[in-house]
Amino acid sequence: MKILNSPEEAINYRKTLKGSVGFVPTMGALHEGHLSLIEKAKKENESVIVSIFVNPTQFLPGEDLEKYPRRLEADFAICKRAGVNAVFTPSAENMYTKDEVLIKAPKIKGYILEGFNRPGHFDGVLQVVNKLFNIIRPTRAYFGKKDAQQLYLIKQMVNNFFFDIEIVECETKREKDGLALSSRNVYLSENERKRALTISKALKRAAKLSSKTKNTEEIKKEMLAVLDVNELQYIAFVDRNFNFIKEISPRNTIILIAAKIGSTRLIDNIFI
Ligand code: AMP
Repeated sequence: MKILNSPEEAINYRKTLKGSVGFVPTMGALHEGHLSLIEKAKKENESVIVSIFVNPTQFLPGEDLEKYPRRLEADFAICKRAGVNAVFTPSAENMYTKDEVLIKAPKIKGYILEGFNRPGHFDGVLQVVNKLFNIIRPTRAYFGKKDAQQLYLIKQMVNNFFFDIEIVECETKREKDGLALSSRNVYLSENERKRALTISKALKRAAKLSSKTKNTEEIKKEMLAVLDVNELQYIAFVDRNFNFIKEISPRNTIILIAAKIGSTRLIDNIFI
């Protein structure tokens, strides 16, 4: 397995590859969720490249950039075992220059929900994914539905900028009890983990209820009764294009939650 430390190395390595290239961008601290993306990429492509880069531009001041879990050696071992051909781990210094050309997230869909609570977050995400796509030039890129709004915006960027890349949507991997896997779960104490579980429980409850009522206010009430979090940032009902909806429309609805448990901010969603 190749380790590529700079964009130049990655660009040169890419030139040696023949056939389809599957790409899995991550911030590392890899778990089964990331692994499921890697395995799907492995099945569908001749080569697989994983990037591990804790992208500073998508963190807001005061967020967990410094303490974000970093486990590069363990991540390399996971990638190697999964048959990854190369891991791209650039430094922030060789990914960014001062006063550079910027990508802006769309004014509406990039500034609701996650974008409202983390203004500028998606500008940073799209900036780095744009760079990564140009460096790796993948045939297919794999993204998790766990970050549903991110996935939506990346698909929009691919359309708007005419990237010749297939975006593959991957299901959310969960612990047996329902907790969505996340690199940030390591921040949770035992008690906080129990309370974090109420997020996936509320979503499950909502999905079940949606066969009885389509009214989002009614469903939201029931979700609030299940949730035990410190700070609920949003419960939202949107269609697959992230337009807010009042009525559930089957196969065209996403219910999303963002909440803080202690100081840990978690997101989860369910596609209905
Ligand atoms: P991250 O390292 O958190 O930036 O995530 C890298 C990729 O893995 C993103 O496309 C995420 O949506 C995806 N991902 C994160 N958690 C999960 C999960 N539990 N199941 C499936 N994909 C996930």
